[in-house]
Amino acid sequence: MDKKKPVQLRPYHKTRYNYQKLRVCKHCHNFTILWEDSCAYCKRHALVPVMEQAEKMAKRSMQSDRLLFYIIGLSAVLVGQTFWQIVISFACMAVLLVLLLMVQRRMLHSETLHALNKLLRTHKEKIVHGLDLNQSTASAAMQEDAQLGYEIVREIASLVKNDSIRLQQIVLLQGFSLRKDMELELEPLLLDEFNPDLAAYIGEIAKLKRELINSKAISYLLTHEAEILHMKQGSQIMIDAAGAAVRKKNYIDRFPDFISRYADGLPKARFLRLYQIVRRNPGLSWNGLRDRVSAIYNEQYRSDPDFQKWD
Ligand SMILES: [Zn+2]
Repeated sequence: MDKKKPVQLRPYHKTRYNYQKLRVCKHCHNFTILWEDSCAYCKRHALVPVMEQAEKMAKRSMQSDRLLFYIIGLSAVLVGQTFWQIVISFACMAVLLVLLLMVQRRMLHSETLHALNKLLRTHKEKIVHGLDLNQSTASAAMQEDAQLGYEIVREIASLVKNDSIRLQQIVLLQGFSLRKDMELELEPLLLDEFNPDLAAYIGEIAKLKRELINSKAISYLLTHEAEILHMKQGSQIMIDAAGAAVRKKNYIDRFPDFISRYADGLPKARFLRLYQIVRRNPGLSWNGLRDRVSAIYNEQYRSDPDFQKWD
């Protein structure tokens, strides 16, 4: 097996909306989710964030509304026949202009979102094409620099949700030596199909970031349990996941048979956690899990002082 590479991943910036990371070329309308300086298509330094472009579009449309207002207002002033008619038209125009400016200022945000929606809708094909171009960049980077390749794929994955992107992420992650302090994720990477890299990744996550093992991850392991058990580290993966699952009573309630099957492999601290939950809930049998826990306790921990205070 290849040796895993230690990496220091650059922090991942989350945005409120996925598309906020997209930038568009002002010249050729090519889209990108990466951080390159110039447009990959026309090579010009003309990339701006889509939000910025949308705001510009909204402001431009407001400007034309104002122009229309000036034309109508000035015509009213010009048709005035007496001095007072002209003064009154002028005053009305001034008041209305202030009101218009106030309304426009309040509407800027919603108009920007409206313009953004239009921008993304009308350039759907260009966006897909731009993200394809980003993917080619990722594939090229992967050969040279797996870390950069991963960082690129991670960005693309915020907009492109499909199994091939997830697989690329998983395979790259399996090449790194993972640490607790890394920003790791699990649920967005889950596939439908069995994949040994994903199963191994779940096993690592179960040790490094227990809190990421949720019911979806457990369901994945259970759906593919037979295949996972054929893997060299398969039963250890299942044991580590069971150890992560016992942190919540909810998972014990939902998956008692799974916990029961792997309970005797749990390290002491994880078994103690399970034992405590079982003791706290005397009315629940969890389809035989209670008996299984008692049996393991009797075999291995009866005289263990850490268990005594729970007896
Ligand atoms: Zn361009």
